[in-house]
Amino acid sequence: MKVVLREKILRANDEIAEENRKALRHKDLLTINLVSSPGAGKTTLLEKTIAWLRERIRIAVIEGDVYTTKDAERIAGQGVDVVQINTQGGCHLDAHMVGQAMTQMDLNNVDLLVIENVGNLVCPAGFDLGEDFKVAVLSATEGGDKVAKYPVVFQKAEAVVLNKADLIPFTDFDLPGVQGEILGMHPGIPIFVTSARTGEGVEQWCNWLEQKVENKRKGMQG
Ligand code: MG
Ligand code: ZN
Repeated sequence: MKVVLREKILRANDEIAEENRKALRHKDLLTINLVSSPGAGKTTLLEKTIAWLRERIRIAVIEGDVYTTKDAERIAGQGVDVVQINTQGGCHLDAHMVGQAMTQMDLNNVDLLVIENVGNLVCPAGFDLGEDFKVAVLSATEGGDKVAKYPVVFQKAEAVVLNKADLIPFTDFDLPGVQGEILGMHPGIPIFVTSARTGEGVEQWCNWLEQKVENKRKGMQG
C-alpha cells in the first residue's frame, strides 16, 4: 500500500480534474467518488462491493483519510490495489491529490476505480476529482434531516445508498419520507437501501454499478 501526502498547489481544481478525467478516459475504466458523512459506512460498503464484484471486474481504490491508514488497510485486505491519500487535516480530496495517487497505480488493467472521499457532506460535493460520477452514502443512524441540510451532494450524485438499513427499527429514520425527499430534489435518481454489515441490498447496488462499468466500457454515457 502506498501513501500520498497533501501538497500545496495553486492551479485551479477544475483544470486538474479535467486532466485526471482525460488520463482516465484512455484507460477505459469507470471512476466513482464515494461521498458521505464520517461513519456512514463507506468503507464497509466498499469491502462488500469488492467481495461481490471482484470475480467479474477488476477494482482499484483511492482511499482518502485525514490522518490514518485504517480504511486503506481494510481495503488492501480485500486483495485490490489501494493508494492512500492523507489530507493532513484537510476535509476533502482535491483533484491534485487524486492525480498524484493515480501516478502510483497501474490503471491499465482496472475496470472500476473507486475514490473513497474524506467523510464530510459539505465540500466534497464541490470538488470535481475527474470522476465519472459521485455516489452519496447516507446512513439511517445519521437521521434523515441530512438530505435537506446538505442538498448539493444529493443533487450532484448519480445514485444514493441508504446504508445501515438494519438499524432503522432502532431510530426514527423515516425511510419512505427520506426517499421521497431525495427524489424531490433529484427526480429519478436510483436509491439503494442497504446494510453493508449484514449484506442486505448490496447485490442490487453491485448489479447497478456493474452495469455502469459495462456501459462505460461500451462507450455509452452513464
Ligand atoms: Mg471510510
Ligand atoms: Zn473541505
